[in-house]
This record gives sequence, C-alpha cells and structure tokens, in this order.
Amino acid sequence: MKFLVLVLAFLSASAFSQQDPKEGVEVQRSRLLLLPASTVERSAGQQYGQLMRAASEKGLLNRDPQQVERLRRIARELETHAVRFNKNAEKWHWEVNLISSKSVNAFCMPGGKIAFFTGIIDQLHLTDDEIATIMGHEIGHALLEHGRARMSEQVLKSIGITALSIFFNLGQISHEILAQAANLAVSLPYARGQETDADLVGMELAARSGHDPRAAVSVWQKMSRLAQAGGKGGRGQPPQFLSTHPSHESRIRDIEANLPKVMPLYSRTKK
Ligand SMILES: [Zn+2]
Repeated sequence: MKFLVLVLAFLSASAFSQQDPKEGVEVQRSRLLLLPASTVERSAGQQYGQLMRAASEKGLLNRDPQQVERLRRIARELETHAVRFNKNAEKWHWEVNLISSKSVNAFCMPGGKIAFFTGIIDQLHLTDDEIATIMGHEIGHALLEHGRARMSEQVLKSIGITALSIFFNLGQISHEILAQAANLAVSLPYARGQETDADLVGMELAARSGHDPRAAVSVWQKMSRLAQAGGKGGRGQPPQFLSTHPSHESRIRDIEANLPKVMPLYSRTKK
C-alpha cells in the first residue's frame, strides 16, 4: 500500500517549468493527486454553493455592491494569467463573493471559488494592490492544487481504502466523505513550502496584472500588527487568516528575496 502510494505520488509529481525560465517565479506542482481534478472541483463547488446560500439566507452576502465589483474586477485581472500555472484554469467557472463578517479571512477553493470577508478588507484597510496579492495567494493554492492534494490525503485517511481502489473506483467514495475533505482542504493550514509557493504565484499574478507585488510585504506587516493588537474587533482572537496562513518569521524575507523576479513584469505593465 505504502509502496503503491509512493509510486503514484512519483508518477503525478513533476516540477513546474515556466515558458520562459528567465522571468517569473518557480514553484512545485502538488504531489499525491489521487482524486481527479474534476471530482475535487465539483465537490468544492458544492461546498462553496452551500456556504454562499447560508450567507445569503442570513443577509450577509454581497451587501456592498461597490466592494463586490472591486473584488470581481481584481479577480478578472488576475484570472487572465492563471493558465500560466495551471492550464485547466481556462475551464474554471470562477466566482467571487463578499461575506459580511468581522472575520479577517479570504479563500479560494479548488476550481476558482473565491470568498472575501469584509473583516479582512476593513481591518487591514486593504488597497487594490494588497487585495490582489492576497487574492493571488489564495488563487495560487488553487492553481497549484494544494486543496486537491489535501483532499486526496483526507479521503485516504478517512476511508482507509487502498490507493488503487480510489484510483479506479471513485464511485465508492461517498458524497459526505468528499464534502468533509473539501471543508478540511480550506480549514487547515498548508505546509510551509506550499505557503511560500502560494505567495510567489500571488506576487506574479499581481505583477502581471499591473498590481504592485511589493504589496505582499505590506499585507503581512499589517497582518502581524493586527495579530499583535489581539485582532481588534475579533473578540481578542488573532486574525482567522493567520490560523490557516501562519506568518512565520521568514515569510516577509522570502517575499522580498523574490521581488526581483516579478518587479520587471510589473514595470512592463506601467509602460
Ligand atoms: Zn496560504
């Protein structure tokens, strides 16, 4: 079983190569992608739909048309460049919604299902460039299929069947198990390497769409100031975003070290 998983993981692993190796960031593709992308995206789409319906019933969905339009405009700009990191993104049915909540949070589920909470925009006083780097980071997780990898792991854990039966007999995986895995895929922190890669993709998407990638630095500075202040308005809790995106010491340093790879892309949009 272990051997089989290793073999499958090896077969599905491949380093991502840029079209032009001289510019842009370098990131790793996900491994252990046992669940087909279509299954993962369908399940995530259903979870997202449920969440948005629940928000709508409580009167918390898209209450500020101006902010919704702002988020959707930035998303359209970033989406244009998404295929560079995942060619399937061309077929995604992107969605962007704004939930009225003090929670300092944002996410993008597999397949391009994006949600921002008003708390992250209001408490961090986000500029368009900062929204672009946060959204780009979240889209980065989806493009690099971190959620798909996690869902594959969760399904393996929760049903304990062999990798082969997952691979060849997906019909046996119940809707509930997939739904649970989809939820866990956005509610647990990702590995540090995945976080770094999502930062890099976010910076490149932002830069290519004319948003200053240096905003990734100010976002994390604002985030850590808010955490130190005890997440004002968040009942003394640290920002929710930090529970799934730990702000480790070297994060800002890594971002700064990679700026030279994306600044030329940004400068080009300003000519
Ligand atoms: Zn992240």
